[in-house]
Amino acid sequence: MVRRRGIYEVNVLGKSLTCLFCQGNQFRHREVYMDLQPLGQKVTNQLTFQSLTCTSCGDNRMFQEKEILHQTSEKQVSSIEYTEVIQE
Ligand SMILES: [Zn+2]
Repeated sequence: MVRRRGIYEVNVLGKSLTCLFCQGNQFRHREVYMDLQPLGQKVTNQLTFQSLTCTSCGDNRMFQEKEILHQTSEKQVSSIEYTEVIQE
């Protein structure tokens, strides 16, 4: 499990992420792994989620990170971008 230290402002698919409950835009990050076994199948898929917890109200959201094609540079980039918030 990967855990980024600190607090982040997060962009998902190029849009700034805001909390649905308090409109906060600062989050703590944690990476979560889940094993999913589709019904009737023997294979297990491991899925990775980026768990983001609002620093003001504690609401938690999970995203699946993907590679997307950046519109201007045409490179593969992550769908989730993190900008660390420097605290004084
Ligand atoms: Zn919140």
